[in-house]
Amino acid sequence: MGRITRIELYRAPMPMKVPFKVAIGTTTISQSLFVRVHSDDGIVGVGEGNIFTPVTGETPDSVWAAAPGLAQALLGSEAHDIAGRAQQMLKLLPNNTTLRSALEIALWDGLGKAGGLPLFALLGGRRRAIVTDNTVGIDTPEMMAERAAGFKARGFRVIKVKLGTDLATDLARMRAIRAAVGAGFPLRIDANQGWSRTVARAALAALPQFAPELVEQPVVKWDVEGLAELRRGSAIPIMADEALFDSHDALRLVAAGACDYFNIKLAKAGGIHMALGINAIGEAAGIACMVGCMTDAGVAIAAAVHLASARENIVFADLDGADMLAVDPVAGGFAYGAGGELWPAEAPGLGVELDAGYLAGLETRVVE
Ligand code: MG
Repeated sequence: MGRITRIELYRAPMPMKVPFKVAIGTTTISQSLFVRVHSDDGIVGVGEGNIFTPVTGETPDSVWAAAPGLAQALLGSEAHDIAGRAQQMLKLLPNNTTLRSALEIALWDGLGKAGGLPLFALLGGRRRAIVTDNTVGIDTPEMMAERAAGFKARGFRVIKVKLGTDLATDLARMRAIRAAVGAGFPLRIDANQGWSRTVARAALAALPQFAPELVEQPVVKWDVEGLAELRRGSAIPIMADEALFDSHDALRLVAAGACDYFNIKLAKAGGIHMALGINAIGEAAGIACMVGCMTDAGVAIAAAVHLASARENIVFADLDGADMLAVDPVAGGFAYGAGGELWPAEAPGLGVELDAGYLAGLETRVVE
């Protein structure tokens, strides 16, 4: 892959099948930035960043305002030097992880195409299936139980449950869901920072009766000490999500003994380069990883599937974003197998195709 000559930016509001509520916000229209990065050897790499403001602080407007300048800065630089481009973008826009991720994913796609390798192979990994959960957003216990039963009926082997409101209602939700899916069916919980330390302590004491396999981010993201204290007293493994954006966070969490698992998301990490660094720290520390998503369409999901396939230390997947959308503008990248299996594509790069007719209907900026 040669030098970057042209970058196309597409603003993509995508309706959800149903509004998705978590402790820190509700998504009714999912907002992605799609990018196409051209290089002077005729390669075009495709990327996506899905914007969830309560986690990264970026908004659709802020991403749309910042994207042309960042794209401009990349023009003329070597597209294959992804570590260099990631560092360059980090220096220019340190807090715009989703925007940086969209552009960085496109460089990996382009490099795979240039080398004739699917991304999982380019990353030095093998092709394997990773099993994704599907997620039940916050609602009444009855509605959540119905959705959980629906996912089980569709063949999903594990369900993630969003909690993080008042404890009595959260426990009622778990009781209804456990009754609906039956004993032994794998459930995982995500409180999305919704509990105080005191409530989290009570929750972690009460939740073992529902046998969840893990609890994600019980307390506010900056409370690493609280996470460590909760973990010491918990029979349920703890996963860090919002507390973990980059490798520096990963080191801090390891040093504090704050979690059993990492949840890596490309939109938090700013792309695959940083995600690999987080996973390497996790691997060295005996911390297995999940790869998660926002409400991404298929480009960013494909990138996450390739990453997970290529790294054995990534053992969990929460890659249900594209399944939550009412539109499907992306073909390829990954294939669904039985029971929530996701298989990375074998075509070069991500192996995705963005629907040209769909892109033509979007607000567009071209930087060249
Ligand atoms: Mg989470």
